Amino acid sequence: THFGFRTVAEGDKAGLVRAVFDSVADDYDRMNDAMSFGVHRLWKDSLMDSMRPRPGMKLLDVAGGTGDIAFRFLEGAPNTEVTVCDINAEMLRVGKKRAEERGFADRSAFVCGDAQKLPIPDRSMDAYTIAFGIRNVTRIQDALDEAYRVLKPGGRFFCLEFSPAVVPMLKGAYDAYSFHLIPWMGEKIAGDRDSYQYLVESIRRFPEPETFASMIAKAGFGRVKYRTMSAGVVALHSGWRL
Ligand code: SAM
Repeated sequence: THFGFRTVAEGDKAGLVRAVFDSVADDYDRMNDAMSFGVHRLWKDSLMDSMRPRPGMKLLDVAGGTGDIAFRFLEGAPNTEVTVCDINAEMLRVGKKRAEERGFADRSAFVCGDAQKLPIPDRSMDAYTIAFGIRNVTRIQDALDEAYRVLKPGGRFFCLEFSPAVVPMLKGAYDAYSFHLIPWMGEKIAGDRDSYQYLVESIRRFPEPETFASMIAKAGFGRVKYRTMSAGVVALHSGWRL
């Protein structure tokens, strides 16, 4: 039935994810810097180095939140356009405000939507990005299928995400940091321990880079590859719609 266990459980997760980001939207940028010691900026720069934006390119940035990827892309080449799609209206509100402040209002659109069912036409984008967003999605394979659908043939897929596969030597320190220090910082900086506890747990449940690469290939992408950064804390996956 529509009220079967699975449906209810997934509904709960979507509701929880929305609530998490509602409560953190305003503190989000500050927390990103604090939790990663500012390194998230370098990870995002690496994504742009791999993509190499070209003039006139159209990007869909899914789970784009407050626009970090979108603005790097727009700065990367002239006449580029970005659509930021996020499930959370609060994150989009902050992103839109930032776009206006930076003079990007005419080259950016902010739309509310779910990565698993994008409100975007088939074969309309040159590139698709999702940064630190896909691990929050209930049905990851559906999101990958949607990424494939909206890309033009020749379009590129990029995903930046925390990885559970940290190098063994650092595992003890990383576990201590993420299970204790991150929730503590969430409490101190954003006044919200539970949301950051949830974020840490979602990283542990995310597939290993090799498994995730095979899911990307299953969605139809070719030349799928990945590289890890910061001793395996983060993985950057990419693929082509051929
Ligand atoms: N990409 C941005 C960045 O790197 O700074 C934001 C990342 S933030 C950690 C995760 C974002 O994913 C949030 O803005 C959240 O609302 C969004 N999100 C979660 N589930 C989603 C879904 N199913 N579809 C679209 N966005 C989603």
